[in-house]
Amino acid sequence: AQPPSGDYLHGLNPEQRQAVEATEGPVLVLAGAGTGKTRVLTTRLAHILAAGRARPWELLAVTFTNKAAREMRERIGAIIGPAAEGLRWLGTFHSIAAQILRRHAELVGLKSNYTILDDDDQERLIKQLLEAENIDAKRWTPKALAGMIDHWKNRGWTPDKLPPAEGAHFANGKGEKLYRLYQERLRVLNACDFGDLLLHNLTIFTANPDVLAEYHDRFRYILVDEYQDTNVAQYLWLRLLAQKAQNICCVGDDDQSIYGWRGAEVDNILRFERDFPGATVIRLERNYRSTSHILAAASGLIAANKGRLGKTLWTEAEGGEKVIVRGVWDGEAESRLIADEIETAKKKGRRYRDIAILVRASFQMRAFEERFVLLQIPYTVVGGPRFFERAEIRDAHAYLRLIQSEDDDLAFERIVNQPKRGIGDTTVQKLLQVARLNGVSASLAARQIVLTDELPARTRTSLSNFLRDLDRWRIEADRMPHQRLMEQVLEESGYTDMLRLDKSPTAQTRLENLKELVQSMGAFDSLQAYLEHVSLVMDLDRGPAADAVQIMTLHSAKGLEFPLVFLPGWEEGVFPSQRSMDEKGEKGLEEERRLAYVGITRAREEARISFAANRQVYGRWTSQLPSRFVDELPLANVEASSETGYYGGGPGMQQHGSRWDEAPSFGAGYSSPGWRRAQQAGYRGTHPGRQQVIEGEGRLVAVSETSASSAYRRGDRVFHMKFGYGAVTGIEGNKLTVAFEKAGEKKVIDSFVEKA
Ligand code: ATP
Ligand code: MG
Repeated sequence: AQPPSGDYLHGLNPEQRQAVEATEGPVLVLAGAGTGKTRVLTTRLAHILAAGRARPWELLAVTFTNKAAREMRERIGAIIGPAAEGLRWLGTFHSIAAQILRRHAELVGLKSNYTILDDDDQERLIKQLLEAENIDAKRWTPKALAGMIDHWKNRGWTPDKLPPAEGAHFANGKGEKLYRLYQERLRVLNACDFGDLLLHNLTIFTANPDVLAEYHDRFRYILVDEYQDTNVAQYLWLRLLAQKAQNICCVGDDDQSIYGWRGAEVDNILRFERDFPGATVIRLERNYRSTSHILAAASGLIAANKGRLGKTLWTEAEGGEKVIVRGVWDGEAESRLIADEIETAKKKGRRYRDIAILVRASFQMRAFEERFVLLQIPYTVVGGPRFFERAEIRDAHAYLRLIQSEDDDLAFERIVNQPKRGIGDTTVQKLLQVARLNGVSASLAARQIVLTDELPARTRTSLSNFLRDLDRWRIEADRMPHQRLMEQVLEESGYTDMLRLDKSPTAQTRLENLKELVQSMGAFDSLQAYLEHVSLVMDLDRGPAADAVQIMTLHSAKGLEFPLVFLPGWEEGVFPSQRSMDEKGEKGLEEERRLAYVGITRAREEARISFAANRQVYGRWTSQLPSRFVDELPLANVEASSETGYYGGGPGMQQHGSRWDEAPSFGAGYSSPGWRRAQQAGYRGTHPGRQQVIEGEGRLVAVSETSASSAYRRGDRVFHMKFGYGAVTGIEGNKLTVAFEKAGEKKVIDSFVEKA
């Protein structure tokens, strides 16, 4: 082995260097955002290789996303060269566990070509089970059971290990039985779900010490990023694999634990020191990412959480912009504002790809997308419109899955009559029944049934044609590139024709999606590799990043950084989410606050928070209050922008403490043009949040709690902040009907308009 050149060690601070060089024995790096945890992990990996302590395939490195794994591989490649290609075991928990399961599938009753079910398949399967057990699927929904099973698997519980109380919650104590049936059914289908990947690994390792020993020999060093978001099953998996050599290094930040809802346990951090006695714990305190205002704003916010492990953070990047906070009238105004600022930033020399918009919920994305399309601002939605979840993509995948494994009944059921080939529901039900009675797959049942007179002659013919096609494709699958196979299957099955003949506006998009699908398959060596990728990749990858603004959820922004970050929708009920607010106790809210901390700490130079006074959520207009997180930002590091129209003051602010009212900078917000205009208009100092129930198809019908008689008369010319100028045509209490010059006739609340 080459002696380490050591170049890569320069530039690390002493604590980082210690974390890189302490290769033997357990190490826990516990540090805040942007302190170089990921960088330490990458360098450590390179160091182990460069020092010749292990060969690439003897390292197990776990990242949170496939994208992060790719980036890490690239960075290591830059340090050690092509040897980085040999890092076979660098990936997510899921992708690594899937590889291991593939090699030992028979030990848990599967074949090595097992399929991984997506959520949709999973729910369909559970629905069948509930029907078979005569359980009311309206009362006890498949989704609920799927969620429970997921939770159990995340905790490492097989049906045998399920604590009795757990199963009691579903369908009057039938939870455990259903879980068991579900697992049996999966086995028959030669399939597993996501949770199974880890769970089957655990079963294999604990029941087969020889197999575990094999991996002990193989994985000489284990490295884990984003450790704070591991769940119990993942923790147990790591502990099993690390128990012999104990060369395990985990890096994480308790303040960034944001997957509690998926079973992540911050306690794993505390467990680590218990389970690996003598572990070296290293703390990093210097933040290299953000300027001091950004860092201080984030630190001040997270200080409101209790039960933190606590840490100090400092940066040499003093000064810089304060975190900008501003209120706007509605979601549309917010997207307009942000789009304008992006254009300005671009003119000043920022690249689009240095700009990110981080939202709490994906429904917030649409407004930005629309605006960007209009202004021709290039953007990507990361992990966005779930390409792989679209119907036509699922259909195409079902064909491939069925070609790969004849046992895949869910795939069979999905496409046997898609496109329509005259094999109706009755036939399918009959097939599934035969399959169940004989304990065979639906494909096999179909093969049997076409030899009988069970089906009408026409149905029989089309079913045998379908089976013949499948057989032919299976043969071709071994001979032709999988991209070609996909094209051929889409053509020969009649799927493409179905869409070509379809005159609905979506058909064209669907054809284009299928084209993109075929194109994206080119990146994979084999059909199996591709299908595995599909099941594992949660986020949509659009190839090499063009220069585009990045839109994504806060969750998917974890670990990333951008010079300019927009954080829209900081409103009660959006962020923190309504769900976390409805929950008892502070747990949900604290997780939301950590998410806010993650959001702010993604920014290197500029962070801009916004909130709207009105928002349309699922077609309904609602009034919004600024997020409590806005109030929790330390004033010294925040600036309320005075450029914007409307700064929502009022009860939302007062409710959460009076600090905002004392803020000198906040005064600028109150005297903003929008605010003045609102006050001139007789706005009685009440935040629109007070006025309840605003709804209707695009109509703003507000009912104020103050129902004083109106100061307006018919024919008055008025100005409305949303709709512009218009003439009053009707008055009813404090509601006005106004014929707006641009927006047409609307009902509005009188305090929302001013005389013009
Ligand atoms: P997060 O908690 O958000 O995942 P992190 O702790 O993993 O953050 P990194 O992403 O590794 O932090 O590093 C943050 C930024 O600081 C990166 O741009 C990284 O290149 C830079 N950085 C880290 N350490 C150093 C260093 N010693 N010298 C210069 N830059 C550094
Ligand atoms: Mg990181």
